[in-house]
Amino acid sequence: LAVFAFSMSAKLNPPQREAIRHLDGPLLVLAGAGSGKTRVITHKIAYLIEECEVQPAHIAAITFTNKAAREMQERIARLMPGRSLQGLTISTFHSLGARMLRQEAKLCELKPGFSILDAGDCLGILGELMRNADKAQVRAAQGRISRWKNDLVDPEQALENAGEAIEAATARLYAEYERTLRAYQAVDFDDLIGLPVRLLDKAPEVLARWQGRLRHLLVDEYQDTNKCQYRMLKLLAGPRAAFTAVGDDDQSIYAWRGADVENLHLLQKDFPQLKVIKLEQNYRSTVRILQAANSLIAHNPKLFEKKLWSEHGHGDAIQVHACRDGEHEAELVVMKLQAHKFQQRTRFADYAILYRGNHQARAFEQQLRDNRIPYVMSGGQSFFDRAEIKDITCYLRLIANNDDDPAFIRAVTTPKRGIGAATIEALGRYAGQRRISLFAAAFEVGAESHVNVRQLAAAREFGVFINRMASRAAREPAGELLEELLKSLGYENWLFESCEPREAESKWANVRDFVGWLGRKGEEENKNLLELTQSVALISMLDKNDADADAVQLATLHAAKGLEFKHVFLVGIEEGLLPHRDAEAEGRIAEERRLMYVGITRAERSLHLSWCQRRKQGKEWRSCEPSRFIGEMGGDLKFLGGSKEDTPQDKAAGRARLAQFKALLSGDQSI
Ligand code: ATP
Ligand code: MG
Repeated sequence: LAVFAFSMSAKLNPPQREAIRHLDGPLLVLAGAGSGKTRVITHKIAYLIEECEVQPAHIAAITFTNKAAREMQERIARLMPGRSLQGLTISTFHSLGARMLRQEAKLCELKPGFSILDAGDCLGILGELMRNADKAQVRAAQGRISRWKNDLVDPEQALENAGEAIEAATARLYAEYERTLRAYQAVDFDDLIGLPVRLLDKAPEVLARWQGRLRHLLVDEYQDTNKCQYRMLKLLAGPRAAFTAVGDDDQSIYAWRGADVENLHLLQKDFPQLKVIKLEQNYRSTVRILQAANSLIAHNPKLFEKKLWSEHGHGDAIQVHACRDGEHEAELVVMKLQAHKFQQRTRFADYAILYRGNHQARAFEQQLRDNRIPYVMSGGQSFFDRAEIKDITCYLRLIANNDDDPAFIRAVTTPKRGIGAATIEALGRYAGQRRISLFAAAFEVGAESHVNVRQLAAAREFGVFINRMASRAAREPAGELLEELLKSLGYENWLFESCEPREAESKWANVRDFVGWLGRKGEEENKNLLELTQSVALISMLDKNDADADAVQLATLHAAKGLEFKHVFLVGIEEGLLPHRDAEAEGRIAEERRLMYVGITRAERSLHLSWCQRRKQGKEWRSCEPSRFIGEMGGDLKFLGGSKEDTPQDKAAGRARLAQFKALLSGDQSI
């Protein structure tokens, strides 16, 4: 009876309940933003464990980001206090794929310590292969190869189907790129899903094993799955097809990364017994916000008919601010935010500032800092992309996998140990002839006739050091070993020798932060350094942030998907930024509109939009128009700020007002 109480007591409406109780066949929950789709997933997991006595290890929930995975884990734990969730899988497709690949490495002809390369590393490899190409060409090739991979097209098929000469050249490059990755015992992000899928496709006994393990699949943000991810879902679901996919076609914003809304139709075609449930009540936003969102998205062609309504009151008017330029916009938004917080006695964490592109963040960061407002940023330059963090991760990668040439090159030259570009090139030529890795080449007798003796000795000494670390990595606690690694590298000294003192200090603080965090993670998850290395590759900065910190969220619209905030500032709502300048020519306006829809529907209680009359582009000023999307949001908007150019006097008066205002607020600042 006690368990029965769970499903009765949970706040769920009738269609949500129906979705949760539907266990035996495939289910699609198709519904608009804020209608409780993610809630269906968390409650269904609790229902499966509490009432159906399913082992947590037989359940896998797939989320779109690591942050979403962690949030989901927390919510589920709260639904079932005291219950062990040991073995429950909550991860992204990529993390799940990485886990499968780790366990099946041998069958995929990889060693267990294989390296996971990020987009930057892969771009570097392609750059090497395309010697005379410029950066844009290399990027274009990378995009093309990634799309092939996501469509499960291998290099031979790509070459066969290639029409134009350039396509054929890219297909040949694709083949070379794959050979290089395998030679490094490395995989890229696309492989994390592609390789397991190929394995499941060709090895029925492996497939059966995973199907037996993951018996209940739940996929959030289904509209943004690509072909390869869909294939993984389909294979794992098998003939039993006990899966729940939830999604919203109006929030599909990753087409540029190969996501395909067509997967919604495929589901209906591939699973004729598919049950579809729609949710229509929005529990997140005020009526005004919801109406604006509905009105905007009505300008897109409809795939599926959906209605959304809310019982929340009308709420505050949506404000649209015209700003002079980017600096003014940042000033205004931060001032509004502080005033609002002061009046409403809210927390900083109730606010989000959302924008289209990362470059927009800088002005806001600066303003927030000047006003001593704590903030966290997501979707920006990842912590893990910083040079100092990449230096350390390259050491870790090399310790886990000697064949990882890109890691070898970075580690052996950072800090400098007398091994220069010429040596690496000479070693590379020899390694190429012998078809072995740089690391292995350094230890061969044959290398002696190719490489300067002193430098070769230095490379060997380095190799011995790495091997010593590797043999200890499997046994010793990660934290202590990392400390030792840093010490033996003399990394701190090197930073202070090679950078400005302030820069070195900040870099060293990042390294300390990273190492401390890795050590704790190692303890918590009982992982050694080799195992941690692979998880690092899959983690984004947000995982590192203290989730409970009271801080304003800065995020790109893409990174904000699935999240909700009491008060939202959508900034830079101009033609050229949103919709993005290239979108029109490429026929992607509908996708930009969905991005705007995602932004609007993040807000629970209040929404502010802003746009700038002019923006600096390089050295030039460009005048801007408000985005067409503002006009598409219906009539219930409040427009503020004028087109009047401010005189210097106006500016001075504005600054004085701002100073007064800040003085007034400073009493309330509890930072
Ligand atoms: P998105 O499309 O943005 O991902 P979603 O459909 O996943 O949205 P949720 O995040 O699950 O929506 O829910 C939105 C908000 O509504 C959450 O705060 C959730 O707790 C709340 N909610 C959902 N269903 C109910 C319900 N039946 N009763 C009360 N609150 C609910
Ligand atoms: Mg959701």
